Amino acid sequence: MPFTTLGLSPALVRAAGELGFATPTPIQAQAIPAVLLGADVLGSAQTGSGKTAAFALPLLQLLQEGRQHTPRRVRALVLVPTRELAAQVGEVLRSLAQHLPQPLKVAVLFGGVSINPQMMGLRGGADIVVATPGRLLDLVEHNALKLQSVSLLVLDEADRLLDLGFAEELNRVLALLTAQRQNLFFSATFPPAVQALAESLLREPMRVHVESTPANEPAILQRVIQVDAGRRTELLRHLIKTHGWERVLVFVATKYAAGHVAAKLYDKGVFATPFHGDLSQGARKQVLDEFKAERWEVVVTTDLAARGLDIAQLPVVLNYDLPRSAVDYVHRIGRTGRAGTSGLAVSFVSADTEAHFRLIEKRQHLSLPREQIPSFEPTELELATQATPATEPGTGGIKGKRPSKKDKLRAAAARGR
Ligand code: AMP
Repeated sequence: MPFTTLGLSPALVRAAGELGFATPTPIQAQAIPAVLLGADVLGSAQTGSGKTAAFALPLLQLLQEGRQHTPRRVRALVLVPTRELAAQVGEVLRSLAQHLPQPLKVAVLFGGVSINPQMMGLRGGADIVVATPGRLLDLVEHNALKLQSVSLLVLDEADRLLDLGFAEELNRVLALLTAQRQNLFFSATFPPAVQALAESLLREPMRVHVESTPANEPAILQRVIQVDAGRRTELLRHLIKTHGWERVLVFVATKYAAGHVAAKLYDKGVFATPFHGDLSQGARKQVLDEFKAERWEVVVTTDLAARGLDIAQLPVVLNYDLPRSAVDYVHRIGRTGRAGTSGLAVSFVSADTEAHFRLIEKRQHLSLPREQIPSFEPTELELATQATPATEPGTGGIKGKRPSKKDKLRAAAARGR
């Protein structure tokens, strides 16, 4: 089914085509006609499913059809959890709007950078605002913009907005809007707080749910490699060299670890750099731009990069430290294999984390084979009791020590979960 059958204007179909979107993804096919009809939409979809264009295309069309004001008034507001996602969504909106007969102005507002250029940018108004909630409220307080004319509200990654503690800001923003508006609500997960928010916002929403079927699930090969915790950096370097991985996004647990692991890799001749929330906005953007331009082989990051970031054709994601939750695991590995390309997601497990990984597998209904890499076979015990036949050639037995009382207790606890 081509885009032309969804009721979009030729200018939008052309812009979508120029971005390489020949046919709508399942979420686009479902959401676009519903939004054009004026319905509220509740969307749940896999990461990388094309949800940005699913709301951006009909939003642009509705604004084109609506009454223009001079000076411009904000008619569509897109709230997102992170600066990077704001920049990304803004970019998609601008690209898709480029051929519209009447230009629409998109303002992208987020914290962590000076407020003045954003205030200047809002002079003369804007038609569409993409913002993180905190900075949006700051700008409203500075009288840089008003939200009374918003007729279309999009909450993107609503679960993440709440996870990041934006509930209060969100409520303050919602209190500034008129009740007469269309609401589009997207979330990857629906824990009770997200469900409650959706129920309070949406009126008889059209539900758009994209089941993950083999046809639309990204082709991500998931590998689990057993290694002693102290040898992970060495093994990572070995894998990069032997497999010729050109770009790897490596996840660690803390900002400190991001800096530390990147520095260790860099010292060993791997072009690696950290990416985390303590970097300035300018530095974060530079790292991402340079990673996209293939100037870095490895970016070592915290869960900051787990959601929303779209780095085209990112071939490998590696969990150096495991994510805390099964949901975070899905988000992390979703950074690869986007939009139909295949990807590789590798997780390192060691004696301390094997039980935790089994929990993630259980939650995700997965059962992944454990691998060991020759010369990097683990020596710590929990792994020895769990090891399954290695898939890499030359993998021998595991040198082990006798189980301590603590090891036995840990293994028993893990079996009981
Ligand atoms: P999103 O889920 O919005 O982050 O989109 C994930 C990726 O899919 C992005 O790289 C988009 O450029 C791409 N994409 C979105 N819609 C389509 C489409 N209809 N055809 C091909 N690629 C698409």
